[in-house]
Amino acid sequence: MERSEAVEKGLEFYNTGRPCKRNHVSDRRTDSAACEECHKERSKKEYHEKIRSNPEAMRRHSERIRDLRRKQSAELLAEKMQRKRTIAKISDGLRREYDGDLGR
Ligand SMILES: [Zn+2]
Repeated sequence: MERSEAVEKGLEFYNTGRPCKRNHVSDRRTDSAACEECHKERSKKEYHEKIRSNPEAMRRHSERIRDLRRKQSAELLAEKMQRKRTIAKISDGLRREYDGDLGR
C-alpha cells in the first residue's frame, strides 16, 4: 500500500513492502512516513544514551532489571515448591494406599 492510499483511508500505518534505507520491511507511519523499526531502534539507542549520561536514570534502570530478575526467580522458586508439594502429596497418597492394602 502506498502512503497516499493510507492517507485517503485515514490509516495510522501503512506498508509498501519495500525496504527502508536500513533494509527494514516494516510498517511506516502515515503522518511522517517514518519506518517503525527504525523508530524503535532509535528510541532504544536514545534510551541507552540517556541512561549512560545520567547516573540517576542508570540507577533506576538497573534497579528495574534487578526487580525483574528477582521476580522471575521468585516465580521459578514458587513453581518448584508447588511441584515438590504435588509430588509429596502423590507419594503420600500412594503410601496410604499401600498401607490400606496391607490392612493397617
Ligand atoms: Zn527502517
